[in-house]
Amino acid sequence: MARKVWAVLQQREGKLHRGSWEAVAAAQRLAQGGEVLAVLLGSEIGEVAREVGGRAKLTAVVCVEDPKLANYTPGGYCSALTPLVGAEAPDFLVFPHTYQSVEYMPRLAHRIGAGVLTEAIAFADEASGLVWTRPILGGKLHARVSVRGSGPMCVSVQAGAFPAETLQLGGAELRWVGAGSVEVEREILGVEEAGGGGVDLAKAERIVAVGRGIGSEDKLGPLRELARLLGAEIGASRPVIDSGWLPRDHQIGSSGQTVAPKLYLAFGISGAIQHLVGMKGSSTIVAVNKDAGAPIFSVAQYGVVADLHEFVPALIEAVKSRQ
Ligand SMILES: Cc1cc2nc3c(=O)[nH]c(=O)nc-3n(C[C@H](O)[C@H](O)[C@H](O)COP(=O)(O)OP(=O)(O)OC[C@H]3O[C@@H](n4cnc5c(N)ncnc54)[C@H](O)[C@@H]3O)c2cc1C
Repeated sequence: MARKVWAVLQQREGKLHRGSWEAVAAAQRLAQGGEVLAVLLGSEIGEVAREVGGRAKLTAVVCVEDPKLANYTPGGYCSALTPLVGAEAPDFLVFPHTYQSVEYMPRLAHRIGAGVLTEAIAFADEASGLVWTRPILGGKLHARVSVRGSGPMCVSVQAGAFPAETLQLGGAELRWVGAGSVEVEREILGVEEAGGGGVDLAKAERIVAVGRGIGSEDKLGPLRELARLLGAEIGASRPVIDSGWLPRDHQIGSSGQTVAPKLYLAFGISGAIQHLVGMKGSSTIVAVNKDAGAPIFSVAQYGVVADLHEFVPALIEAVKSRQ
């Protein structure tokens, strides 16, 4: 059944959040030949709109431009989107599952009378209708959910579940629409990166992740060196953060960040479910652990059973010799 689907993109200062491409990939699959619109909100978004329209196969890129949308605010985004939804009546609005969309998506859904489903990782058209899959209980279980009733539905998609590599390429016209009356309920005085300019793991293409198995903070040196050589960011399991070996913005997992890099190297991480839920969408996972039975190996494409303190220096030498 062909559906009318919107991918509501996330951008800041003309830079797309990488989850935006994943939202478009999910929307394309969901539409099943129906209309797919990418919706961009902001001020001075011409360049980023052309980037989307030049890459993805879409019915159109809908550009909602207004100086009041220069900074994201939930009230501004909801007030700009509400009349558009009323006029266009999409069946689904697909968002990347980010802190931003989790903040305003339910509020928008309430305004437009839509259902809400967060953190979708898959969907299937079954005899009974459309069935979604989403993690529950911190990722221990996957729930299969079907939605009753009619009207639009707002869905956020988990990072890595609909990889940007599956995007259908093509092109799209840009459609400029007025934002109507934008209700900005907050004055943005400035924007600071979390952790004082710290790490944004959601954008990282490569991550060197460390676990309690490194033993102590003073053993981080070689891992930092490896990350530098690979152009990777450093991530960590929760005990590393709780021990104060790395700042909180490096934590990956159910109470940290969800990441989906191209390469995830895990050193001394056992693979508890609360960690896996935050990284198993990575394209290639390499795990190094001295315990051959560690659960991390169940999600890894490459597993190395070794003492990381011996393996990491050897890996550094191998990388250096190739560079
Ligand atoms: C509500 C809740 C939320 C949580 N949220 C998160 C979260 O967001 N992120 C998260 O990561 N965890 C989270 N946890 C904690 C989670 O349950 C695990 O305790 C944690 O992920 C384990 O971290 P770890 O793998 O580094 O440590 P461990 O489980 O202690 O594993 C250490 C691993 O290192 C290996 N090792 C030891 N020495 C070496 C060596 N020399 N060389 C190679 N391997 C070695 C061991 O074999 C072992 O597998 C949460 C828990 C709860 C209850």
